[in-house]
Amino acid sequence: MQLIFLGTSAGVPTRRRNVSALALRPHELGEWLLFDCGEATQHQIMKSPLSLFRLKRIFLTHLHGDHLYGLFGLLASRGMLQAQMPLELYGPPGIRLLLLTVMEASQLHLPYPLEIIEVRGEERFDFGTYRIETVPLSHSVPCYGYVYVEAPRPGRFDPEAARRLGLPEGPLYGRLQRGESLTLPDGRLVTPEDVLGPPRPGLRVVVGGDNDRPELFRSYGAVDLMIHEATYTQKDFDRLPRKFRHTTARQLGITAQQMGVKRLIATHISPRYDHPEREAELLEEIRLHYRGEAHIAYDFMEVGL
Ligand SMILES: [Zn+2]
Ligand SMILES: [Zn+2]
Repeated sequence: MQLIFLGTSAGVPTRRRNVSALALRPHELGEWLLFDCGEATQHQIMKSPLSLFRLKRIFLTHLHGDHLYGLFGLLASRGMLQAQMPLELYGPPGIRLLLLTVMEASQLHLPYPLEIIEVRGEERFDFGTYRIETVPLSHSVPCYGYVYVEAPRPGRFDPEAARRLGLPEGPLYGRLQRGESLTLPDGRLVTPEDVLGPPRPGLRVVVGGDNDRPELFRSYGAVDLMIHEATYTQKDFDRLPRKFRHTTARQLGITAQQMGVKRLIATHISPRYDHPEREAELLEEIRLHYRGEAHIAYDFMEVGL
């Protein structure tokens, strides 16, 4: 699977960062998913290898403008392009009324089917090769995190086992890897289990929304990748005259370490860190507490898993 960060700024865009949006391309599928859709997300998509035609599902974490205001333009442009593939939109309660109101007021008619699904609490949406689980978060408005969970993958091919069975190298290997059983010329039956290791668990990726309690993801434990906001350093947060419900780099580092997260990417970066030196403070603070691989997201950052 592949992830492309389309917007990584908190609240307002900066010259280097647009507001929140993240694309996820599942394994070997042409379709892709979009998490949040801040203003100008469609412009970011145009500058990326992604196509609006192949966009299959949108998941909104919450209805704050920096995560949402790009939605109307994106849906309308996808319509102008005459995209036909149905689109599903998941988001907190209120998204249906909001969207239908905008569509009616601006006389927006879409040529593709749009299904709106309002998320209520902990839910699980199964899509065959992967599923999405929702996690209610702690923010100033209803907000959801989404956990992408891949179906288990077949075990690794063991060429030594294949040789022991006298299988000739070549296309037979591929057929067994795809789950086919084979009858050899001498009448012996070879099943995939004979040459594949134990099934491997599918990848698990946490996509957090705005949230001041990253530990709400704790039950997921050692996920392959956690993408979560770290809007401020602890020092800056402590000095804020008015507190907003966001996570600090320190808090995120501590939680990721406790969970045993394999890889951590912090995003939703306050514009005050829009300078390499200041940005480095965030990463340093995370690394004080988290010993895994940590990064600060930037626009158009691509991550493969
Ligand atoms: Zn935000
Ligand atoms: Zn917010």
